[in-house]
Amino acid sequence: MSTTEAPLLEVEGLTKHFPANGTLFGRRGGAVRAVDGIDLTVGAGQSIGLVGESGCGKSTTGRLITRLLEPTEGTIRYQGQDIAHTSRRGLAPIRAQIQMVFQDPYSSLNPRHTIGRILTAPLEINRIDPPGGRRRRVEELLATVGLNPEHRNRFPHEFSGGQRQRIGIARALAAEPKLIVADEPVSALDVSIQAQVINLLGELRNELGIAFVFIAHDLAVVRHFCERVAVMYLGRVVEIADRASLYGDAHHPYTHALLSAVPGSTMPDGSKRERILLTGDVPSPIDPPSGCHFRTRCHKAKDVCATKAPPLTALDGRPDHRVACHFPAPAEVLLPTPARRLAKTP
Ligand code: ADP
Repeated sequence: MSTTEAPLLEVEGLTKHFPANGTLFGRRGGAVRAVDGIDLTVGAGQSIGLVGESGCGKSTTGRLITRLLEPTEGTIRYQGQDIAHTSRRGLAPIRAQIQMVFQDPYSSLNPRHTIGRILTAPLEINRIDPPGGRRRRVEELLATVGLNPEHRNRFPHEFSGGQRQRIGIARALAAEPKLIVADEPVSALDVSIQAQVINLLGELRNELGIAFVFIAHDLAVVRHFCERVAVMYLGRVVEIADRASLYGDAHHPYTHALLSAVPGSTMPDGSKRERILLTGDVPSPIDPPSGCHFRTRCHKAKDVCATKAPPLTALDGRPDHRVACHFPAPAEVLLPTPARRLAKTP
């Protein structure tokens, strides 16, 4: 792992509001608050997981970091330089260094182009002239991701889902990135293939020192990959910690619920974790609940949760484990369901 002065990536107050119904300021509350002020730091070669249910703003965060989108507010410092509002032209020198791997490789690979052509494009765009020539580099890339270099003349449809994701990964690697944002990279794959692709990403991280922002809706997927995990709910980070603290000693009720959905998940004392069913969907980010966004689905919610948004605060003596909850606590043995329902504030 390299030790540059500034972290590779430092995000502060990152916010993205999309116009709802076409206009952003056309009517009161007319914005989709997809990302609502998040802070993240990723060091060179490190990996952070972004998890949470669908609609929590994970993908938008990934697209902001790769500057496929421009933030409404906040800073995105890459190696110390704020790129939040940098122009297309200004971004050119660092575009290659921050690559994205998408959930569905098929829709992001041109079906009419051979794999060779798909992998040559980033070399041309980024004016990369490998010592042995571009064709040799393409073959090398295919071998790196576990594909047969002789298949460079084939088309995307001739590959399986897992192989296509390997091609998507090879394309990201072609640009020689320092950071890869992987947005649900295995969610579209068969369970049997998921582990293989995650293992490949792990090898690349270890061998090439690439840092990762790994987006997943499922805590089980990032468990073995990410040293740090940030749990997002409705555009905000509600808990962030290193792997051992998050999986072993989470303090946010939302994290407890996500953990309880992981098969075989246990309590910190090793006993079986009771499944916490989250009822209903994530509320609309156009009109999120006041105070703590999670309160409408939280069995611990009290009056203060409706009036005051809990700041992301470090736990006592643990600066790296931060939780946004008025009543942070380790997972508890839950009350029987009817009592829990009574305890819930409407
Ligand atoms: P996740 O990746 O966690 O599923 P997303 O970042 O895709 O969440 O979406 C967060 C919220 O922002 C969702 O409510 C989604 O509908 C909304 N959203 C995403 N992109 C746009 C867009 N271009 N215009 C309007 N709303 C959007």
